Amino acid sequence: MASFGEVEYGKCLCGGHFEGRSVDVRMTVSGRAIILPDVPQGVCPICSSRVYKAQVLECIESLMRNEPSPESQWPV
Ligand SMILES: [Zn+2]
Repeated sequence: MASFGEVEYGKCLCGGHFEGRSVDVRMTVSGRAIILPDVPQGVCPICSSRVYKAQVLECIESLMRNEPSPESQWPV
């Protein structure tokens, strides 16, 4: 069973291993602040670096270019 917590993010530059989790991401679209709930994200437990999956990044970037859809599905 796949879940956000099992996404493989690989290793951080500092040597730590990214841990998967879901977070709320705050961003500004067209001068409007919005919050994306439950965004899958990798976090380094050592240096707190954060990474996103490529598909998630594409989603975020498309949201920044266009109006956000009311019910966005993450392609995980
Ligand atoms: Zn790190």
